[in-house]
Parts: sequence; C-alpha cells; structure tokens
Amino acid sequence: MTVKTGARTALLVATATRALAVAKLFDMHGHISVREGDVTYVNGHSASRVAVTPEAVAIVRIADGTTFEGTPPSEIPIHLLLYRTRPDVGAIVHFHALYATSLSVAGKPLVTAFNAGAPFGREVPVFDDPRLVRSEDQGRRLAAVVGRGPAALLRGHGAVVVAADLPSAVALALQLEESAHRLWLTYAIGEPRRFTDDELASVGGQLAEPRIVRKIWIDAIERARRAGALDGLDFESVV
Ligand SMILES: [Zn+2]
Repeated sequence: MTVKTGARTALLVATATRALAVAKLFDMHGHISVREGDVTYVNGHSASRVAVTPEAVAIVRIADGTTFEGTPPSEIPIHLLLYRTRPDVGAIVHFHALYATSLSVAGKPLVTAFNAGAPFGREVPVFDDPRLVRSEDQGRRLAAVVGRGPAALLRGHGAVVVAADLPSAVALALQLEESAHRLWLTYAIGEPRRFTDDELASVGGQLAEPRIVRKIWIDAIERARRAGALDGLDFESVV
C-alpha cells in the first residue's frame, strides 16, 4: 500500500504514540512530534495515547503555531520552540517519566552510570519549572536548558528528548527512563559510579549505531503489537 507523505507521518506518530503508551512512558499525557517541512505532526490533545488514530494527529506550523489539522496538546510550545532553535531536530518526545522525574525532585542528578544513559552525556540538565509549558517564553527557556543536547528533565513534571528522526527519539525516551530506573535503584543502596568521558564516548557511539536504534524501535513496536495496541493501524507500512 502506498501512503502519501502527510498521511504516512500521521500514521507514524499514531503508531509511536501507542507504542510509548504500552511501554508505560505515556499515561494519559505525553506527546510525540515529527517535523515535516515547516510543520510538525503531533498526537492530538484529547485522544487516548493507547488508541490515537492518524485522524487525531494535529498539524501545526512551527514558525507561528498556526494549527491546520486537529487540536494540538496544550504544551505544543515545547515542540515549536525546540524545532525553531534546533534545525538538526526532526522528532521530539515529551513524557511524564516516572523514575526520571522522581530523580528531578530528590536532589539526585540523572548521571550516566549505566549504558542506557550514555547518549545523554555526564548528566541530564533540569528545567527548574514544574508548570505545564504552555507559553512561548517557557518553551524558549526549556530549549535553552536542552541546549545542543538530546534531553532535559522538567522538575516535578517530566522529560523531553530530541533526535534527528522518530525511531531515534523513541529509543532515547526509552533509554532515558531505563537509565533513571537503574539509577533510582542504585541511589537506594549507594552512590553511582559515573562513566568516564572515554566510556561515555565509546558507549554513546555504540548505542547511536543505526542497527541499535532500529532494534529498540522494532522491539517497542512488537511489544505494542502483541499487546493488541496497534489493532486497526496499518503500521507495517511505516515501520
Ligand atoms: Zn507535560
């Protein structure tokens, strides 16, 4: 089946949203977006993350927030401001991560002491504002905290990851929460042994290999499929 570019992107966003719901990164909240030209496709405000359809994917112009289709999430400034400040970013995930967010309020930095943390460097920066990111000013300040990096925590709120494409963003979201979960266990019994800069570079490079990213992406899709969460989606044409 041939799918037009826009419809393909909406299907991709719907599929990834359901997969991240099955992975428990999305509860009733959370959104994933993809940049396509001067617009972004993002799962809509109200649709359940475990059942979102391509029709429920909103299309928003990055430059000024004009909505062409659907109803975007209220925190759309997260996506718009990051796309405007980061031309290298093609996909973004914002999620209310259980373990990562817990660390952000406990005075325990999300340092890299496990392989899953290597893509994020020495530690993940924290945006020190728990309010929902609903204004351009907040989005701008969050983008400044992300800087040139791949992620930030939002204190008492969640996390955001950015990547060149959607599978890479999904992989980063899963790795961020895995790193935080392992670290949470470590903090319960002692102090984590941080990776050296050399270890960060080596492991980070390995995890960035396209075949590794692809493996993580396919695994997330397969778990969602087996859970029955992809029923009704022609996802195999876009994965
Ligand atoms: Zn949020």
